[in-house]
Amino acid sequence: MTEFDLIRRYFTRDTPNALLGVGDDAALLKVSEGYVLAVSSDMLVSGTHFLPDADPFLLGHKTLAVNLSDMAAMGATPRWATLALALPDATPVKGTPLDTRPAAGLGADESWLEKFSAGFFALAQQYGVELVGGDTTRGPLNLCVTIFGEVPARQALRRSGAQLGDEVWVSGTLGDAALALAHLQGRIQLSDAEYAACAPALHQPQPRVALGLELRNIANSAIDISDGLLADLGHILEASKLAASINFSALPVSPTLRDHLQQALGKQCALSGGDDYELCFTAPIAHHGELQNISARLKLPLTCIGKIVAGTGCLVHDAAGNPIHMETSGYEHFR
Ligand code: ADP
Ligand code: MG
Repeated sequence: MTEFDLIRRYFTRDTPNALLGVGDDAALLKVSEGYVLAVSSDMLVSGTHFLPDADPFLLGHKTLAVNLSDMAAMGATPRWATLALALPDATPVKGTPLDTRPAAGLGADESWLEKFSAGFFALAQQYGVELVGGDTTRGPLNLCVTIFGEVPARQALRRSGAQLGDEVWVSGTLGDAALALAHLQGRIQLSDAEYAACAPALHQPQPRVALGLELRNIANSAIDISDGLLADLGHILEASKLAASINFSALPVSPTLRDHLQQALGKQCALSGGDDYELCFTAPIAHHGELQNISARLKLPLTCIGKIVAGTGCLVHDAAGNPIHMETSGYEHFR
């Protein structure tokens, strides 16, 4: 199978919303009248962002999900994506110059591609996203999506928009993905039932696209939580030149994580666990009730966890107001 057969078989679908999709030197895209383009890339590297033996269907889902999450955090409607793939030697890609040995245990073959693309397209279809191009090459397994969305320019949710007195909110629950990862890495021993409860957060995150759209006229700032609440809220605070006061006991956690919340690792999962892909946003108190309505309508928990105050940094306190100190503030690559 040549590179072109591979692209045709696994990565070419109808793209009615593009002027031109896969097959030429570039795709041609037209943004809706009155909208601007929101563009973002996210790369998943074997061994860094996923384990080499990860389920290919779920990996296809996650590769797109983390990019959809960026659109959600921007308040943008996702429309198109491109996919740049480096595939190990076991995958039948011909005509590429590099010859890299297969990643141990990966076995990236046609059955892998079949499942990966099925996972990718299942999520793409759910959100009406079209794959309009990409690149396919040989190399250590590496998955990079660039996503294109659209948003009315002045309604885009920026990190820099938080205002003094805003409430700080998060969607869903925090820390389950990090708890599942800690179990896989042997840093904690979960029961089978506990692992089954938190593993979907790690392997099949649900991007909060519908919430992002609802927040367009409501939130002053937003970010998706990919590196942990403290690190990502920290980006809002830095960009907005403000501080936050966060009530640790208000953090929304699953029943599974709640059972481990007294341990340092549990606390760390809730405050600094990566890979949640929930949204963290700030909004004026006047919108508190409306946000509760949105939560009910979307059947998605939205929890107010604190407020924006003057100063710098993020103060986390318990219900009695005593500060909680944490060792690390999030996952940073190459540190
Ligand atoms: P070029 O050599 O002009 O860069 P390629 O041979 O790399 O073109 O790709 C041929 C066509 O297939 C292009 O339209 C490209 O966007 C598309 N393509 C390549 N890899 C992928 C992929 N993994 N998923 C979707 N489209 C792809
Ligand atoms: Mg190319």
